[in-house]
Amino acid sequence: MTTPTNELPDYAPVPASSLGPALNEQGYYVGRAERNLFWVTDGVYNSAFLLTDDGVVLFDAPPTIGHNLRRAVDEMAAAEGVTNTVTHLVYSHHHADHAGASNLFEGVVRIGHEDTKWRLDRDNDPTRPVPDVTFQDAYTLEVGGERVELSYKGPNHTPDNIFIHFPNHDALMLVDIVNDGWVPIYNLNLSEDVPGYIDAPNKALELPWKTYIGGHLGRLGTRDDIALHKSYIDDIVENCKSALASIDPTPYFARYGANVWAGVKGWLDEVTHSAASPVIAKYTGLLASADIAEFTNTTTFLILQSLRLDYGVGSYVHP
Ligand SMILES: [Zn+2]
Repeated sequence: MTTPTNELPDYAPVPASSLGPALNEQGYYVGRAERNLFWVTDGVYNSAFLLTDDGVVLFDAPPTIGHNLRRAVDEMAAAEGVTNTVTHLVYSHHHADHAGASNLFEGVVRIGHEDTKWRLDRDNDPTRPVPDVTFQDAYTLEVGGERVELSYKGPNHTPDNIFIHFPNHDALMLVDIVNDGWVPIYNLNLSEDVPGYIDAPNKALELPWKTYIGGHLGRLGTRDDIALHKSYIDDIVENCKSALASIDPTPYFARYGANVWAGVKGWLDEVTHSAASPVIAKYTGLLASADIAEFTNTTTFLILQSLRLDYGVGSYVHP
């Protein structure tokens, strides 16, 4: 049963700085990132394409944008007086919400990480054909005199998520790491490798670029957006460390006796709450949806577990 919407909670207004441009009648916006590199959004998902004399290179094909990808390419190709034939499609990672309109483009060369191929082979989804060209560490894509550097820097959001660098456009596309102007959604943006996710913005900042094309939320980003995201995550990490060090689990285990899992829950809930609450307060008004407590709480819980399990923080050795 659906909850009556008048019973749903209210939230803080979305900061004006978090919002992107208005969408057109068809529900998309297409704009120039730099020169012949364009980006498309439906307000929630973002995609990008490069117009060249030898064909169009598409970067991700989110199904929510769907057929509007074709419209956006046609619109800009006509305006620029170049071909609208899509010749290449690059997968940022295997997830269906960013790749599930891939099958709308026939006869293209699909490019992705070798692990993306393995996952798409396994998942066998006809909307996401496996890549024809794969790479392990790095791949330089050259089309129509333009150059795009694809690189794999280890697992982060997913085990196969890649960095898409446009050295001649001062741009970086990195999907599902930083949501420009917004907090990550549940569980660190549904990420599989916590240390890799936390470090990905540092790896992004090592590359030269001015424009950040994230996978979500309707506007382009800057290096300042990466910095704000990093400070949100860093605050959670630091708060988790101090909460782990200062909150004594003994009373929770004493309270529940033989039900040790109930003791674990009481203790970890207290650590999570104590670490997340100041972050929610600090970033409400700075990052959209910071006051959706479940997002910061679940992200904090995941980081807390990674600190314990990946980094060994608070590890206790019986005397
Ligand atoms: Zn994803």
